Amino acid sequence: MNARSTAVLPPPPAAVAAYFAQRRSSLAGFTPEDARHNEMLWLVGACGLSESEAAALMASARALEAENGGSEPVAVVPVVQSPDPRCNACGQPFQPRREWSRYCKVNCKQRAKRARRSGG
Ligand SMILES: [Zn+2]
Repeated sequence: MNARSTAVLPPPPAAVAAYFAQRRSSLAGFTPEDARHNEMLWLVGACGLSESEAAALMASARALEAENGGSEPVAVVPVVQSPDPRCNACGQPFQPRREWSRYCKVNCKQRAKRARRSGG
């Protein structure tokens, strides 16, 4: 089940500022509930999704986390699907399995992750 999103990205700067003003960010005692609160705030407040769209997107992310055994948190990033989506790593056109997929293969995702980690 894919969550469709209709967000306009990037969000307007004012919406981003409002998000950072409202998000829960105390490091001590930061709970999963706080994380959900922030996700909803980001998706609805900043990205302009409806609450039901945001809830569907978050549910899909939680399902993906269950699939990977919770080893890797899945970010809920609404992506405006282009008519010709391309892999962010290798640039090949591909059909995303999920709305927010940005890489055609796990290899590409891992390569991108390594590049980020090495400061590239
Ligand atoms: Zn690729």
